[in-house]
Amino acid sequence: MSSEALIEKYFRPGRLPHIWCPGCGNGIVTGCMVRAIDQLGLNKDDVAVVSGIGCSSRASGYLDFNTVHSAHGRALPVATGVKLGNPKLNVLVVTGDGDCTAIGGNHLIHAARRNIDLTVVLFNNSIYGMTGGQYSPMTPTGSKATTAPYATIEHDFNIVELVKAAGATFVARGTTFHAQQLVDLIKKGIEHKGFSLIECVSACPTSFGRQNKMGNADDMILWQRDHAVMAAAWDKLTEEQKAGKFPIGVLYEDNSRIEYTEAYDALIKRAQEAAK
Ligand code: SF4
Repeated sequence: MSSEALIEKYFRPGRLPHIWCPGCGNGIVTGCMVRAIDQLGLNKDDVAVVSGIGCSSRASGYLDFNTVHSAHGRALPVATGVKLGNPKLNVLVVTGDGDCTAIGGNHLIHAARRNIDLTVVLFNNSIYGMTGGQYSPMTPTGSKATTAPYATIEHDFNIVELVKAAGATFVARGTTFHAQQLVDLIKKGIEHKGFSLIECVSACPTSFGRQNKMGNADDMILWQRDHAVMAAAWDKLTEEQKAGKFPIGVLYEDNSRIEYTEAYDALIKRAQEAAK
């Protein structure tokens, strides 16, 4: 389907134009999400998109699905309620690195622990863009931010390892440079039965890029090309070769654990049997 047809079918014309800065990666990630849903042939009424607060979370307002633009850091508990209310829905969570891993960090580990069938599309632009360029838990150590004018001394989360350890059963990472691969990763996340998270490495030229002298939007997207390594090649690299780079692709998948709404249904049946 052409980009024009996708926009006509999946976006709310009354909510456009969007507020994102020129060169922002949010549009690419949102486009990849829509392409993934379209390629899976999902009915719009069978899809729910729940977001938190921040630049990326504005996407839920632009998209013509069942949508909730919730509170800061609270997209996951809202999405959990939506999924429990109607387990047949494909529930996607749109969130940023600040929204998801700082104020929403506790919700993230518990949603992963439950293995509830949500697909988290984590827009990682390495900063709080909307609120003024403060550093987030995913801002790389040594980067500048308005709250770290002499560079942050905190160690950033490796979100893949964090959610894996918490119990997520599908974890992937992609970039906006590798857009076609990102579509495939989001599709796989939606198809996976259980908690899935796709980290989407994205550029914020206005805040992170400017503060860290990363050049313009083109330079930032080329930085992704030059620092991402396909998962298949990653394990063959030496520790020295891995320094400053990151793997992309499907990084973890486990289909052996029961999904939460299925376990919840079984619990209801057990309780009903016991009450007879
Ligand atoms: Fe995108 Fe950054 Fe602008 Fe927010 S501030 S819209 S993340 S470029």
